[in-house]
Amino acid sequence: MTAPSSQQETRTSTRVDVAIQGIRLLDAPLTRPNGAGPSADGHVLLDGVGAAIPLDPRSPYTVAGGKLLLDGADTGLGVEAVARPRFYDLTTSDGTSMEMVARLHAADVLATTVVQTCMRYDPSDRCRFCAIEQSLEQGTTVAVKTPQQIAEVAQAAHDLDGVRQMVMTTGTSRGRDRGATHLARCVRAVREVLPDLPIQVQIEPPGDLASITELYEAGARSIGIHVESMDDDVRRRWMPGKATVPLDEYRAAWREAVRVFGHNQVSTYLLVGLGEDADELVAAATELIDMGVYPFVVPFRPLAGTLATDVDRAPAPSRRDVGSVTVRVAAALRRAGMAGSDQAAGCAACGACSALSCEGA
Ligand code: SF4
Repeated sequence: MTAPSSQQETRTSTRVDVAIQGIRLLDAPLTRPNGAGPSADGHVLLDGVGAAIPLDPRSPYTVAGGKLLLDGADTGLGVEAVARPRFYDLTTSDGTSMEMVARLHAADVLATTVVQTCMRYDPSDRCRFCAIEQSLEQGTTVAVKTPQQIAEVAQAAHDLDGVRQMVMTTGTSRGRDRGATHLARCVRAVREVLPDLPIQVQIEPPGDLASITELYEAGARSIGIHVESMDDDVRRRWMPGKATVPLDEYRAAWREAVRVFGHNQVSTYLLVGLGEDADELVAAATELIDMGVYPFVVPFRPLAGTLATDVDRAPAPSRRDVGSVTVRVAAALRRAGMAGSDQAAGCAACGACSALSCEGA
């Protein structure tokens, strides 16, 4: 892998800026209004590469003639909105709208939250940037998706909309498996109808690490175990529930996941903008890379409906911080020969929520 050119640097800096400031693409046909992970965004192709960008009517970025404009001037980047997928208009055999079971992310990723509730959703425990139960409250999803529903939707999304990989995440359950057993059932059901569709699962460190093997044996080929920050002060402030899981439990789960899934088939989110020192964030990413874990660096997004926005009024991170961390983590990934596109499936393979892929990582 080679170092990025100056043209790539400009592209990265625009990609970072647009990820923070959003885009005034008011008619994006494919949006993700809420749910787990980064949301309230529109899915577009930015110079042919999938990108999940916040939709913000105040943004200086607009789109005209398929070009991304900044204050009316051409940035040189092309923008294409991702079309609404055809499977959204279908229902499963039990009469559930397929759009309520799984969503299209970026251009070709099918994503579902198999259990839309989280044992940590009490406001005293909840991750302050999370809105996992909001779509449930609004009636736009179902609380627990069955393996059968997910398999039917995967088949339709694959056949009608060319989905090439799948992400299955879950709210955290009270059981020791943290939701792994249901996830494994869902993976198995999809692999039965689509044996070649790569699937990533996302889960908290399970109490019994054997769950990681169970997920692999079910057919998942990548796994995300998301810590969001490796600074315990930041974790306590932003994720009081998840912060009760010691970082060493995460380390043990990542090590076991690398043993089972392989080097660079394991990833974790690291959010920029939670108040962590940038150098420490890069050092944490380097520790992960040394373990064979891909640190998916994503800017924190202040979303309506989250405690971070509605209560804390937390601001978006600065473009400088996101850019600097992204560039340095990407360089460490390149040195280690790790690219998100080498993951079988998942957020690192998709790349739409991060600018790391602009930097060749
Ligand atoms: S990076 Fe992950 S959360 Fe973001 S669009 Fe891609 S699959 Fe969805």
